[in-house]
Amino acid sequence: MRDSKLFDLSGRVALVTGGNGGIGRSIALGFADAGASLAILGRNAEKNKKVLAELESRGARAIAIQSDLTDTAQIRPAVARVEQELGPVGILVNNAGIGLIKPSLEVSLEEWNRVIDINLTACFLLSQAAGISMTRRKAGKIINISSIYGLFGNPVAASYSASKGALIQLTKSMAIEFAPSNVQVNVIVPGYFHTELTEQFKDTLFYPETIKRTPAGRWGETEELAGTAIFLASRASDYMTGATLVVDGGYSVH
Ligand code: NDP
Repeated sequence: MRDSKLFDLSGRVALVTGGNGGIGRSIALGFADAGASLAILGRNAEKNKKVLAELESRGARAIAIQSDLTDTAQIRPAVARVEQELGPVGILVNNAGIGLIKPSLEVSLEEWNRVIDINLTACFLLSQAAGISMTRRKAGKIINISSIYGLFGNPVAASYSASKGALIQLTKSMAIEFAPSNVQVNVIVPGYFHTELTEQFKDTLFYPETIKRTPAGRWGETEELAGTAIFLASRASDYMTGATLVVDGGYSVH
């Protein structure tokens, strides 16, 4: 049977953290093109404004929330604001994240906490805040953005790697907990993508080395993650939960 609505997000409300740049922006634009209403969340007001205009120019209902995810007191009010202005959050993308390149012996407790706070604790608290209403309504999709360093170790990114590995386990546990309530929780594991976060590597040896190791022979463009996110946000993935979807040009296969 032909079903052209399988990936349709019309009438759905999505909250994308870090939706004002990089991977989050591409996911937000992809969702808008699939028909969703969007709330993007980030600290930088200028970046928020720019992506909000892009979303609106595509005809999406959209709001931008200026918020710092290290301030946990802002998390529930942020979700409440989305619900008030756009409707219940049906899709949550925990995308906002930061890196820290340093050998573990040199990482301060403050630096460690900052990475864990944004990359893990905020994802937990947002999933909890959105999950309360999703499980009550018996419908919802939570999509976490991890990293291949959630699978591999990294000699100069222990806190990042630990946060992203834990996010994969958080995904699996919440997936089991929420499955009876028809809420699916999955995690995307990106390889290397061109964004502000990875810009610092462009002029280092790391860049050609990682390209050489990637079967696809290049880093990814952020638009190439939108389709995976749309799939996980749509009813096409209703029987998929707790899954880890690696999108890395084949980097982790060998
Ligand atoms: P960017 O640095 O381009 O974007 C990060 C986003 O997170 C920005 O929108 C930023 O908004 C937001 N953000 C950061 N800190 C906070 C905070 N404290 N509160 C609220 N928002 C915050 O990164 P990418 O797009 O590259 O990365 C997105 C996600 O993908 C991250 O979780 C990253 O770990 C993951 N990833 C990226 C890969 C890549 O190759 N690029 C590879 C694997 C995983 P603002 O500046 O306004 O605060």
